[in-house]
Amino acid sequence: MRIIPLGIWGGYPKANGATSSFLIEEDGFYLLLDCGSGVLASLQNYISIQQLDAVIITHYHHDHMADVGALHYAKLIQNQLTDNPKTLSIYAHDRDDQFHSLTYKEHTQAYNVTQTSQIGPFTLETTETNHPVYCLAIRLEAKGKSVVFTADTGWKESLISFSQNTDILVSEANLYQEYEGKIPGHMSGRQAGILAEKAVAKQLILTHLPHFGNIQYILEEAKQTYTNQATIAVVGQSIVI
Ligand SMILES: [Zn+2]
Repeated sequence: MRIIPLGIWGGYPKANGATSSFLIEEDGFYLLLDCGSGVLASLQNYISIQQLDAVIITHYHHDHMADVGALHYAKLIQNQLTDNPKTLSIYAHDRDDQFHSLTYKEHTQAYNVTQTSQIGPFTLETTETNHPVYCLAIRLEAKGKSVVFTADTGWKESLISFSQNTDILVSEANLYQEYEGKIPGHMSGRQAGILAEKAVAKQLILTHLPHFGNIQYILEEAKQTYTNQATIAVVGQSIVI
């Protein structure tokens, strides 16, 4: 399994960047996790639009789905240019009316992610996070390897068992420690470290980072609570497990 970070920012992208998003590849199958602002541009550094096999949207906040409309048009145009059009599957929960807006003509088709256990080569599990809107953490497994994406979440005890023994925990770390408890629905690097430590994750990767301060401090705070390898996601730097 190969995990390629496409963006690392929370809320909105920095200049020439993208909001938190990851491309996951196994046996040539490409799965996009979240499709916020800047993601479509970043994605095309690694694969073409038509190579994309499936998309998961963790929740209906703009920084996780802002580029879905642009993705619809990309599929429309690319399907018009080929004799071999492909419908792109988009997986998300259906507890929001926006679920239906994910389907666009014959170019994309929405599926309820909570009723899905397999996407291509990936076995899938979801669990609700602690966020102001209904949001899902995602666990993917293939060939005995696993990755857990917390998506957006404040501290939630049940994420420990959900993430247990995962090869990689990709955790949001939107807060510096001093903001813990002041901003609902997000974790600090310190809390991401505690989650990774208690879950016995083999590696921790931080994403959904803030636009102010020095994000290296968030990593330092995570390293104070987590004993294995912790890094900040680097766009384009693949992680292979
Ligand atoms: Zn959110």
